[in-house]
Amino acid sequence: AMRHLPYFCRGEVVKGFGRGSKELGIPTANFSEQVVESFPSDISTGIYYGWACVGNGDVHKMVLSIGWNPFYKNIKKSVETHIIHTFKEDFYGEILSIVIIGYIRPEKNFDSLEALISAIQEDIEEAKRQLDLPEHLKLKEDNFFHLPQGKIVNNH
Ligand code: ADP
Ligand code: MG
Repeated sequence: AMRHLPYFCRGEVVKGFGRGSKELGIPTANFSEQVVESFPSDISTGIYYGWACVGNGDVHKMVLSIGWNPFYKNIKKSVETHIIHTFKEDFYGEILSIVIIGYIRPEKNFDSLEALISAIQEDIEEAKRQLDLPEHLKLKEDNFFHLPQGKIVNNH
C-alpha cells in the first residue's frame, strides 16, 4: 500500500453517487473518473490520510478512501476525500489538491451504520495523530499547495 506514497494529485470535485456521506456528517469530495484513472492501477483500496486544499485555500488534514465504485458495477475505483474542516459551502467544481501520505486500513463491510460511523471517527483520530508528526507536517508546507500550476512529481 505504501509503495506509491506520498502521492500528489489535483483535480476537479465532481458530484458523487449520493451514498449519503453528508447525511452521516462525513461528506466526501469525489474526484472525476479521469483523475481516478490516472492513479497507479495497483494502488490498494482502503483508507488513507494526508493533506488537502480546495482552490487556493488553507491546507487541512484529510482522510481518503480508495474504493470500488458501485456506479461502475465495482470495476472502477472511486477516490473520495473527507477534509477535516468545516466549510461554509459546498465546493463542487473547484480544484482539490491532495497529498496522500499513509495507509490506515483496508476497506471493510460493517454490520451497522453505527459501526461504520465509529470506524470512520477512529480513522479521523488516527489521521489527526499521524499528521501531527514532524515528518508529515513537512508535507503541509510543500510547494505543491502554494503553486497552483505547479507540476505534479510523484516518486515513480
Ligand atoms: P457526493 O455524493 O456528491 O460526493 P457527499 O455527501 O459525499 O456527496 O458530499 C460531498 C460534497 O460536500 C463535496 O463535493 C463538497 O462540495 C462538500 N463538502 C463540504 N464539506 C466537506 C468536507 N469537509 N470534506 C469534503 N467535502 C465537503
Ligand atoms: Mg462523496
